Amino acid sequence: MLGVLFGPPTIRMRVAFQALQVDLTEGEIMAVPKRRVSHARQGKRRSHHHLKARENQYCNRCGVAVKPHSLCWNCGWSNIQGRELVSMETKES
Ligand SMILES: [Zn+2]
Repeated sequence: MLGVLFGPPTIRMRVAFQALQVDLTEGEIMAVPKRRVSHARQGKRRSHHHLKARENQYCNRCGVAVKPHSLCWNCGWSNIQGRELVSMETKES
């Protein structure tokens, strides 16, 4: 009856019908989220989802790009301690 007066029933009307146990045709009542997440809250939640680009450091001795806080894979140099920690000659032999 309300649908005839005001057009097709809105979600709120369907929920109200459901609460009043008014019979609607089966399959017409849809699942309704309890609270709708606003665009602002959605954006705040997704603000942490981006990935950061990997930051490179460069070996002070040979200039190869290395991961921070790690030894140079090329020459065994440590930028933090400022000396060679792994000798490449002994590693190869
Ligand atoms: Zn190096």
